[in-house]
Amino acid sequence: LTATSAPDVTASNSELRTFQDCQRRWYLGYHLGLAIKPEDDRPVGDAKLGTRVHLALELWYGHGLDPLAALRAQYDRARVGRTNDQDLTRLGAEQDLALAMVEGYQDWVAETGADDGLEVTAVEDELLVPSGVTGITFRAKLDQRLLRRHDGARLFLDHKTVGSFEHSTTLLHMDAQMRFYSMLDRLLAARDPAHPRVDGGLWNMLRRSKRTARATPPFYRRDEVRYNQQELRSTWRKAVLIARRIQAAKIELAAGVDHHDVVPPTPSRDCLWKCDFVRVCPLFDDGSDVGGAVLALYTQRDPYAYYQGDAELIRADLQAA
Ligand code: SF4
Repeated sequence: LTATSAPDVTASNSELRTFQDCQRRWYLGYHLGLAIKPEDDRPVGDAKLGTRVHLALELWYGHGLDPLAALRAQYDRARVGRTNDQDLTRLGAEQDLALAMVEGYQDWVAETGADDGLEVTAVEDELLVPSGVTGITFRAKLDQRLLRRHDGARLFLDHKTVGSFEHSTTLLHMDAQMRFYSMLDRLLAARDPAHPRVDGGLWNMLRRSKRTARATPPFYRRDEVRYNQQELRSTWRKAVLIARRIQAAKIELAAGVDHHDVVPPTPSRDCLWKCDFVRVCPLFDDGSDVGGAVLALYTQRDPYAYYQGDAELIRADLQAA
C-alpha cells in the first residue's frame, strides 16, 4: 500500500477515542479484532452495569418494554456457562443494584413528571455518514431521539450511570459521544434539507446507589447540552484528524511495519479497569510467548458486532414473552 491507495476508514466515536487513548489497545481490539473469551470476561463492573442499565432504559423508552424484565434477562444471560461461585455472587449483587437503580428511576420519573411532553421519534438509528473527506466515514448507533412538545426541541436521549453527579455534570458538556452524535446529525442535515435536525442532547444520569436509608439523595438527574457551530466544527476536525492517523497506521501495518513502530502502548494506572488487554500487554515487550497467551485468552470477532449483538436478542425475547 502507498499513500495513494490509503485504506478506507469507517470509524465510530469509540474507535476514535480508543486510538487516541492507546494505540496498542486500538491495534489489538479494532485492527486485530481481539476480545476476551466470554468465559474469561469479568462478569460485573461499572462499565458492564452502565451498559445493562442503558439497554434496559433504551428498551423502555424505545420499545415500551419493561426495563426491570430487561435487566433480569441480561443478568440471566450473563450467568449462562458460569459456575464460579464468586462470579455468580457478584452478578447477583450487581443485579440487585441495577434493579434498585432502575426501579427508583421509574418512580422518580412518575413523581417529577420528568418525561411529560417528551415523545420518542426515533430509536437506535445505525448510521454510516460520509465525513466529507475521501476515504473517511463515520459510523454510529445513535441513541433515541426525542421531540419535546412544549418548545419543539429535538434532542438525543442518552443514559449514564455515575458514581456521583459532581464530576459527571462538570464534564458533561465536554462528553465526546454526544458531541460526535450532534456533529453527525449536522452532516446529515447538510446532505438532506428534509432531515429533522437535532438541537442537542438530554442526559439521564442514574447514581450507582441502592438508595438505602443511609444514602443521601439525589439519585437521579437530567441535564441538557447544546453545541454551537464552532464546537461541532471542532469536533469534526478532531474526528477527521484521528481517522487520518488511523488510516496512516493501517497503511504502515499493511506494509509489514512492526506494530511496536506504528502503534505504541500508552500505559497508565487506568489500564487496570479500562483495558481488556492488561494481562497480555507487557508480554508484547519482554520477549514472552505473547502469541500463545493471546490464543489462550482471546478470540477474534468483528469489533462492531455489538451494534447488533445481545441487545437484539434480549429485545426479541421480551417482545415474544
Ligand atoms: S494495558 Fe494499557 S498500555 Fe496496554 S494496551 Fe491496554 S490501555 Fe494500552
